[in-house]
Amino acid sequence: MKMKAALMYGPNDIRVEETEKPVCPSDGLILKIMAVGLCGSDIRNLTTDSRKGKYPFIYGHEIVGVVDETGPEETKYKVGDRLFLFPGTYCMECEECVSGHSENCSNEHVAKLAGTGGFAQYIAVGGEKIHYGGIYEIPEDVTFEAASLGEPLTSVFACLENIGVGFSDTIVIIGAGPIGDFMAQLSKIRGAQKVIMIDINDSRLQMAKQFGVDHIINSSEEDPIEAVLKLTNRRGADKVISATPANATQAQSLYMVRKGGLVVFFGGVPKGSLTELDTNLIHYNNIWIKGHFGASYDQSKRAFQLAISPTFPTEKFITHILPLDKINEGISLTRSGEAIKVVLHPWD
Ligand SMILES: [Zn+2]
Ligand SMILES: [Zn+2]
Repeated sequence: MKMKAALMYGPNDIRVEETEKPVCPSDGLILKIMAVGLCGSDIRNLTTDSRKGKYPFIYGHEIVGVVDETGPEETKYKVGDRLFLFPGTYCMECEECVSGHSENCSNEHVAKLAGTGGFAQYIAVGGEKIHYGGIYEIPEDVTFEAASLGEPLTSVFACLENIGVGFSDTIVIIGAGPIGDFMAQLSKIRGAQKVIMIDINDSRLQMAKQFGVDHIINSSEEDPIEAVLKLTNRRGADKVISATPANATQAQSLYMVRKGGLVVFFGGVPKGSLTELDTNLIHYNNIWIKGHFGASYDQSKRAFQLAISPTFPTEKFITHILPLDKINEGISLTRSGEAIKVVLHPWD
C-alpha cells in the first residue's frame, strides 16, 4: 500500500511523493492524518541539515487524525476515534516525573516514542506510546485544525503558568511569530494589563495587534529598550520573554525589565553560541533569569483543553490551510511573516 508524504531529501529539498504506507503494529494503530500543523521547528529542520545526511525523512509533529486500523492486541482506541497525537511522552516513573516535574523526564526511550512523521497521509502509533499516553480524544464539535494547536500552545501555556503571568503584569514579548502571538493572547487571558510586542517585521507586528497586544515596537526602526522604558514610566516591564533564536535579544531583554523583574529565555539560540550578559545589572537590579523549554504532562493536557475551548480564538491564529502538496509554499508564507499558523491537509 502506498501513501502520499512530504519527504525531506536535504536542506530545502522537500518533495511530496508516493511512499510506503506504514504497517499497523499488532499492539498499536494506524492514524489517518486529517490535519498537521507546520511548526517553526519543522521549518528549521526542513531548511538545515537537521538529519546529518540521513534522508529521506518525514517531519511533522502537530498531528491530528482518525483511527483507520487497529492491531489485534490494541484495546484502548477503535476505528473512527478522532485523536490528537501529542509528540511528548512522559514515563511518570523517573525521579523527575514522580517529583512533579515531568517536563524534565529523564527516560529518553519514552520521550522518543512519538513525535514525527506527520507530513503524510498515515502514521503508525505503537503500543508503548498508547500505554504511556499523550494521546487525546477530540470532541465531535471541535475542528481538526483547532486541535492541532494543542502542541504549539503547550510550551507557551507552561511558560506563562510557571512564571505566574497574571493581573496586573506588564509583559514584553520579543518575537512576533506564532509563539509570540500565542503568548500575547494567553497573557491577556491570564490577566496581564499591558502587552508590548517587539519584532523587526512590520507585517508580523501588525498581525500581532489582534491578539491583545497593546503596543508594537519595530526594533529595526527604533531603540526597543528606550521604547519599553517610555511605555512603562521608565520602570521597566514585570516580565520580559525573549522568544527569538537571537543571542542579541537575550542580552537586550535585561535592560527592559524592572528591578526584581523576570527575564525568560524561551527561544532557542544556536547550540554552543554564547550570550554576553550585563551581570552587574542582574546583580544590582535583583533580576531573575529563567530558561524555558517544554511542559509537564499535566500542563500539556490542560494546554490541549485550552486549544479546543471556545476561550481560545484558534481560528484567528490559523491564517492558512493548505494541501500537503503546498508545504513549500507554507514554509515561505510563514518565513515572510505573511502567515501566522499554517495547517496542512494531507488529503486535499
Ligand atoms: Zn510544534
Ligand atoms: Zn519520567
